[in-house]
Amino acid sequence: MSVDQTPVGQKLYEGKAKILYATEEPEVLLTYFKDDATAFNAQKRGSIQGKGEMNCVIASHLFKLMEKNGIPTHFLDRTSGNEMRVKSVTIIPLEVVVRNIAAGSLCQQTGIPLGTILNPPLVEFYLKDDALGDPLLTVDRIRALDPNMADQVEPLKSMATQINTVLQTFFEQCGITLVDFKLEFGTDAQGQLLLADEISPDTCRLWNQAETDPDRRVMDKDRFRRDLGNVEDAYRQVMERVLEQAV
Ligand code: UDP
Repeated sequence: MSVDQTPVGQKLYEGKAKILYATEEPEVLLTYFKDDATAFNAQKRGSIQGKGEMNCVIASHLFKLMEKNGIPTHFLDRTSGNEMRVKSVTIIPLEVVVRNIAAGSLCQQTGIPLGTILNPPLVEFYLKDDALGDPLLTVDRIRALDPNMADQVEPLKSMATQINTVLQTFFEQCGITLVDFKLEFGTDAQGQLLLADEISPDTCRLWNQAETDPDRRVMDKDRFRRDLGNVEDAYRQVMERVLEQAV
């Protein structure tokens, strides 16, 4: 169904952490951020109180930061607590992961020790497909899946690298180390590549520079994944520090 035929307010898509609604304007969608949290391909489920609003606030601020630095995004504005208006885009079915420091699946799959600095940062592509468990791709596999998608690899890598530079500097000013993060991109009606989805503690690994303890320093969804406790407090701290930095 095309977006312009759907009634206003109709739910177009419900994901694990967000719901997309149609608006009166065919080119504009409303994203609602949920408190629901999932991990390990939705095998672990729960709720983080206030997460929806905090992630919406954080992502809005970071999208503004991107726009200010010349990186086009789907963000239009935050309309209320949990809601953000975004440009309608066709999502590219790739998860683009940037890694500055080894953690998570990289350590598990390669044996590279946790905390190893990755210079230059790694840019990786995963297939956005829950049924297949979001497998790691190679450029050749992307080409085999869709030659047109392979043409996007270099522009995506270049945008992801620029985003990393801006985000690293920003989080450094917050006293936070940006370990790794996941991005999603889409194309608008004119074929322009836009940063989409969200940037938040759900999609980034963020370490508090004021803490040295490997568990205490965690300020992101790893607190939920690994049952470290104080998840809401960590998200709130990220939000407060992010908002302290004007964009
Ligand atoms: N990530 C994400 N969604 C996913 C997979 C990963 O937001 O479906 C983020 C994750 O929060 C981390 C980075 O991407 O910041 C790298 O994740 P990794 O591949 O290490 O996977 P994980 O250990 O989270 O399973």
